Amino acid sequence: MDLIIGAGISGLSYAAATDHECLVVEAEDQIGGYCKTIYKDGFVWDYSGHFFHFQHPELRDYVMQRIDPDEILTVQKHTQILYKDRHVDFPFQMNIHQLPQEEFIDCLYDLFNIPEGAPSDTFKQMLYAKFGRSIAEKFLIPYNTKLYATDLDRLDVDAMGRFFPYADREQIVRNFRHPEGKSYNATFLYPMQGCIRIVNSVASHVNQDCISLGERLVSIDAATHTAVTDKRTLHYDRLVSSMPLPKLMDLCGIAHDQDAYTWNKVLVFNLGFDAKGPERTNCWMYIPENKYVFYRVGFYDNIIGQDRMSLYVEIGFGKDQPVGDVDALLQRTLDDLRVAGILTDQHLVAEHHVLMDPAYVHITRRSEQDKQEKMALLAQQDIYSIGRYGAWKYCSLEDNMHDAFTLAQRLR
Ligand SMILES: Cc1cc2nc3c(=O)[nH]c(=O)nc-3n(C[C@H](O)[C@H](O)[C@H](O)COP(=O)(O)OP(=O)(O)OC[C@H]3O[C@@H](n4cnc5c(N)ncnc54)[C@H](O)[C@@H]3O)c2cc1C
Repeated sequence: MDLIIGAGISGLSYAAATDHECLVVEAEDQIGGYCKTIYKDGFVWDYSGHFFHFQHPELRDYVMQRIDPDEILTVQKHTQILYKDRHVDFPFQMNIHQLPQEEFIDCLYDLFNIPEGAPSDTFKQMLYAKFGRSIAEKFLIPYNTKLYATDLDRLDVDAMGRFFPYADREQIVRNFRHPEGKSYNATFLYPMQGCIRIVNSVASHVNQDCISLGERLVSIDAATHTAVTDKRTLHYDRLVSSMPLPKLMDLCGIAHDQDAYTWNKVLVFNLGFDAKGPERTNCWMYIPENKYVFYRVGFYDNIIGQDRMSLYVEIGFGKDQPVGDVDALLQRTLDDLRVAGILTDQHLVAEHHVLMDPAYVHITRRSEQDKQEKMALLAQQDIYSIGRYGAWKYCSLEDNMHDAFTLAQRLR
């Protein structure tokens, strides 16, 4: 029997694809993990905006075959940066020509005068070495520091993998005349009833009797292939876990480099208002300045086409940083939304918040090295750690499906 920990997209995808007998054990009372949707007072909110760019057509088709096509929106992506008092198209490095002339010249000069042999061993160094001082310091460093809530020198040069919008000088200059922004992940898919619809589609391939909700794994004896939950003792042939890797190692009693595993946590406010706000085109906006508490604001109303403003607002914290008084943070968020010109005279009529902890893992050389060693050790004991937090990586829901399907295929 394959014991699967977690009924998020990773655990459910593995359960849908394996041909072994299996049981999915999920600590919460609902499936979905971080891909849950909240319905409140006519608003549809995810834990945070979850939008889908499928790279593998077969995975898109797999998901879509069990969703009513009328429910799926294909949305033209429009995203900008609130840069001081103006809106600049994202990605910043491709749109420096939209800055005031002096700042544009600074960015261009620095881009073409990057010191020969500039070091590029950390994420921060890479930003300087690839884009020059001004682009790095005006947007890339402040924004990503706010998001990751850490010194970017700690992060591996490839910490964001394919999700980092690289651009070379030629592309940047070409973009002044012929905007490429239009083709950069130009559209995304979104189910009008929220991202849980994607999870439900995958879950419909799993025998519902094989999913046990409200059951938490509390310890593992790898030697005897025994797992203890808060309800019973289970014997497994293989254990496939999507819980965060450091926690899995703790449950297995595997010593690991504790300090290597750090992450940020993200407090998400979902906010519903009584009327449409002034921002009518952006799907989401990036906010680098520290004078605003949030680093990103998304507009569900623009994405779904609603006549009342419906926002998600994301605030980053270090893993050990206290979140503090949530009511006070909500008030600060509303005040900052007004200063940013996103909120004018609309009234808040519905609110939901959730703390995603972990949210973005900090990929460092140390974490990568320890992860490789420990995952190999776990696999020798028939324990496989998958998913965004199980495999300790920066990835999308589609990647989670792909990895889970691949593992199920390999273990057949
Ligand atoms: C802010 C933010 C925005 C994102 N936006 C996007 C996006 O736009 N598009 C996209 O494709 N992806 C996005 N993602 C990524 C996406 O959320 C994840 O890749 C995906 O949800 C991870 O699924 P998972 O199943 O691997 O993990 P999870 O969703 O974390 O599921 C793990 C499950 O394991 C359960 N569990 C944990 N411990 C135990 C235990 N001891 N016993 C039993 N059960 C346990 C948990 O309750 C949970 O349900 C975003 C992520 C974040 C943080």
